[in-house]
Amino acid sequence: MCRSKLLISLVFATFIASCSTSPTGRGQLIFKSDAELEAQAASTFNAYRSTLPLTTDRAKIDFVACVAQAVVAELHPPYSDIEWELAIFADKQVNAFAMPGGKIGVYEGILEITEDEHQLAAVIGHEIAHVTARHVNERASRAAITSIGIEALAVIMGGGYTGGAYTASQVMGAGAALGMQLPMSRSQETEADIVGLEYMAKAGFDPRAAVDLWQNMAAMDKKQPPEHLSTHPAPKTRIENLISQWQKTLPIYNQAIADGKESNCKKTWE
Ligand SMILES: [Zn+2]
Repeated sequence: MCRSKLLISLVFATFIASCSTSPTGRGQLIFKSDAELEAQAASTFNAYRSTLPLTTDRAKIDFVACVAQAVVAELHPPYSDIEWELAIFADKQVNAFAMPGGKIGVYEGILEITEDEHQLAAVIGHEIAHVTARHVNERASRAAITSIGIEALAVIMGGGYTGGAYTASQVMGAGAALGMQLPMSRSQETEADIVGLEYMAKAGFDPRAAVDLWQNMAAMDKKQPPEHLSTHPAPKTRIENLISQWQKTLPIYNQAIADGKESNCKKTWE
């Protein structure tokens, strides 16, 4: 088995000096090829890393890296051949993303919602599934994205953008992400849920935990305006869909446990 390598881009990572993502003109976000999209993703990821603070909390870093590593190890080619990179942002947003070419971003805020390694695996499995199911590619090639305003930029910067918290050039740099960070369609979300469950189960995480995760997310949405992850489908529908997959995914999980893949990723903080 070809185990994927997960590079952890971290804390002490120096800021990338010339993070020169050039502002993309309006209506010009059409990606011609996977290679082009991956290059765009790579520069966007670098822009994020140089714009948002990276977490310095060792326990959180180890926990997220452990879960991400386990999920990534279960991917199939060509995704198993990628050197996946992970960045953990010291940011309160309840958010996470994955990008073509093998980039995973997790915001510390998500750790407030995920109660254990199983729920975090549900998040990471879901985000990676958007990449392996080529949702980003589909969306990016669908049409030119027009009339992108500062609100859209604020969306991609998530709750972290508080008007003036970032310089204009930083925001424009992150604007390259627009083709990737706009909301997915409902059918893409459902597919990412299903594929994500399979990944987590194969990696030895209990697929039933995805239900708890989305219930936590729904409870949170009642208290505050929805952010990126929660622009996803209506909680009731989503939870029903997830439960409908248990018949298929629980045997996968049981097999993973029988194969000795039980997760040893543990939250070590309160
Ligand atoms: Zn999604």
